[in-house]
Amino acid sequence: MTTIRTTCNRCGDVELTTHDIGLELTPERSTGSYRFECPFCSSTQRRPANHRVVSILLATGVTYEVVPHQSEFITEEEIREFARALDDDGWFSEIAAS
Ligand SMILES: [Zn+2]
Repeated sequence: MTTIRTTCNRCGDVELTTHDIGLELTPERSTGSYRFECPFCSSTQRRPANHRVVSILLATGVTYEVVPHQSEFITEEEIREFARALDDDGWFSEIAAS
């Protein structure tokens, strides 16, 4: 089975299976976000997914849904955080499929 490594805010590195991850795609774009429940602390986490991460996750067979734009419900601070996360090169290495 494919394992996907990512990080939990509380627990650090965690390994998930494709069943643990839900991918939400933004219409007209190949980006979105993914969410997972940490197997250790059971907290639900959400991460932005750029094109590369979306490709990795789709390739591993995670389920996905297309969600409409919700920009009217997102604060500017959330947008800045989202953009920061996407720009953080270090983050890219936090997810990898093996
Ligand atoms: Zn955790």
